[in-house]
Amino acid sequence: MILNKLLCVIIMSIVFFQCKKEKQLIVNATQQIVEKESVKLDTLKLTKGYGFPVGKPDAKRYYNAQKFQENNHLGDDWNGVGGGNTDLGDPIYAIANGYVSFAKDVKGGWGNIIRIIHHNPDATKVESLYAHCQKLLVNKGDYVTKGTKIATIGTADGAYLAHLHFEIRDQINLPIGPGYSSDIKGYLNPTKYINNNR
Ligand SMILES: [Zn+2]
Repeated sequence: MILNKLLCVIIMSIVFFQCKKEKQLIVNATQQIVEKESVKLDTLKLTKGYGFPVGKPDAKRYYNAQKFQENNHLGDDWNGVGGGNTDLGDPIYAIANGYVSFAKDVKGGWGNIIRIIHHNPDATKVESLYAHCQKLLVNKGDYVTKGTKIATIGTADGAYLAHLHFEIRDQINLPIGPGYSSDIKGYLNPTKYINNNR
């Protein structure tokens, strides 16, 4: 019983310190990158519902270790239930049909990043952002469908234990951003958005 409690405290501490580390590293990364959307909309390529970026389509066997606005986090941190680096190299999926607007290594606390712009049938647009990836499997300009494997889960080149930092924005093509802020203008709660738009 005592051993179980001790183990629980140790695991919670590890998760806490990993989250703190991410905050510090992303804040330190000063590189601001703005890429303009360079694709014309094909109306046949609108979204047809959203799914989760890991454990497709319902994040099965993953948990959200740092939810939107927890510690001012601007996204969700998806981790495999096995903990540690057990999810390293696991697939990351496009959450909906869309155009890849960015796919490259921005270094710092971010690492490899993919950004996808999603055009919804109601004429709204959102952008999804997938960070710390191990491998990028799509290129800027690609059209991807919901559930396409776009990358694998990484560590931002050893900066963290493997996890996916995932954001959804309702202002597209913002600068790469701070990763953490109490000012959420342009950012949405990713889990809430997906659940409301399945
Ligand atoms: Zn994060």
